[in-house]
Amino acid sequence: MKFGGTSVEDAAAMQRTTAIVAGRRTLEQQPIVVVSAMAKVTDQLLLAAATAARGERESALAISERLLVRHQAVAIELGVDGGWLAQEFAALDEILRGLAAVGELTPRINDMIVSYGERLSSRIIAAAFAQQGLDGVHVDARTCIITDAQHMKAVPNDARIEEQLRKFVLPHADARRTVVMGGFIGSTEQGVTTTLGRGGSDYTGALVGAGVNAEAIEIWTDVNGIMTTDPRVVPTALRVRSISFEEAAELAYFGAKVLHPATILPAVKKNIPVLVLNSRNAANEGTRIQALAPPCRNPVKSIAAKKRLTIVDVVASRMLMTHGYMKAIFDIFDKHKCVVDMVSTSEVSVSLTVDSNEALPAITADLSMLADVKYEGRKALVCLVGEDIRGHSGTAARLFNAIKHINVRMISQGASEINMSFMIDEDDVEEAIRSLHAEFFSDPDPTIFDVEGLA
Ligand code: ADP
Ligand code: ASP
Ligand code: MG
Repeated sequence: MKFGGTSVEDAAAMQRTTAIVAGRRTLEQQPIVVVSAMAKVTDQLLLAAATAARGERESALAISERLLVRHQAVAIELGVDGGWLAQEFAALDEILRGLAAVGELTPRINDMIVSYGERLSSRIIAAAFAQQGLDGVHVDARTCIITDAQHMKAVPNDARIEEQLRKFVLPHADARRTVVMGGFIGSTEQGVTTTLGRGGSDYTGALVGAGVNAEAIEIWTDVNGIMTTDPRVVPTALRVRSISFEEAAELAYFGAKVLHPATILPAVKKNIPVLVLNSRNAANEGTRIQALAPPCRNPVKSIAAKKRLTIVDVVASRMLMTHGYMKAIFDIFDKHKCVVDMVSTSEVSVSLTVDSNEALPAITADLSMLADVKYEGRKALVCLVGEDIRGHSGTAARLFNAIKHINVRMISQGASEINMSFMIDEDDVEEAIRSLHAEFFSDPDPTIFDVEGLA
């Protein structure tokens, strides 16, 4: 059971979480719990790090002080011992002071600082569980989630994680103790703290679930499940009752914030169903993500969008009819470790989309040796996902008719035929999603979408 930031944002949310976990124990199930940092704490820690790195020592320490007070208040409200918090924050402040003196924020130090969010929340919740009769026990996630050393986007080592879980987590679970671990954080084999990337607690939840061969992996969040689109953009978005692994993976990859993009991988490997559930509305059945999706009358299940992308246009007239052209271009992206999301080509030009990143000027410089290059930022990819896109003709016509008032820069349909995506200006995203939602969900299949309960 993984609980996100809003599910542990304050004492009241932690009480709700405690009640949900207690409910499982009464059913003779043995949960293992993974928690995020309390809502907004990760952002605050990153801000403290950046502030310290600019040499603004007192401002950075003030952020830390506010976080200490917030955590202490929660511990007091829950009636658990929070005496250890001062010591943890003293250690954090030491790092911030050093950072302010040195003025250089490395990814390694960044991970060290940001890891406090999950380290603290998980200890508080473990104490709350212990006090409320759930036999709570804290396990430092860094002893189990072994990763490589790519800070801020570390890659987990599945085999080692399984081994560590068997040693440090399963014995507790077997003894009916409720293990609580922080999500998002890990460590290298040498014990250096790493993190799995923003939103990475979902991924931890899935890694732990797969590592212990759980019956199910539950992602508890602040919405009723995976919806037909982000309910913050379309408040009438519907809950999707069930969705395939493949569909969920595409949605997460193409920007649906409800799941970290890597969450599905460990579940697929072990064929463990993933459930997305609402900790504010625990009675709702949520979304079930499983190997096969039942057939659906509607071609599209959900619409996602990914912002902050850049289109790179490469025009190479002199390469007309030569081979090896694509390879030469991709080698350059590869050299700069830059992920390409979408590609479209004509005889002499290639357009690619990439996450806006610092390497772009260097990539452009390298590409300029081969061809004329332009790049345009502030673009967004909108993606429609559904297994039944495959069997429905006319879906593309409906899509482009619905957004005919918006300028489309690139179009693609993946070979899997379960997604259709296109590139537009970032400013047009909300309007495009609203128009598409109206077009594709005016007559939703009640076996797949929860037409009664609006978000
Ligand atoms: P947590 O802190 O629990 O991990 P997140 O904020 O990371 O929660 O993810 C939940 C949020 O994802 C929701 O509040 C919702 O606004 C957003 N979201 C985006 N796309 C979707 C979607 N298709 N279905 C449900 N929620 C979505
Ligand atoms: N706390 C981390 C973040 O905000 C990880 C997570 O919540 O999933 O990105
Ligand atoms: Mg999240």
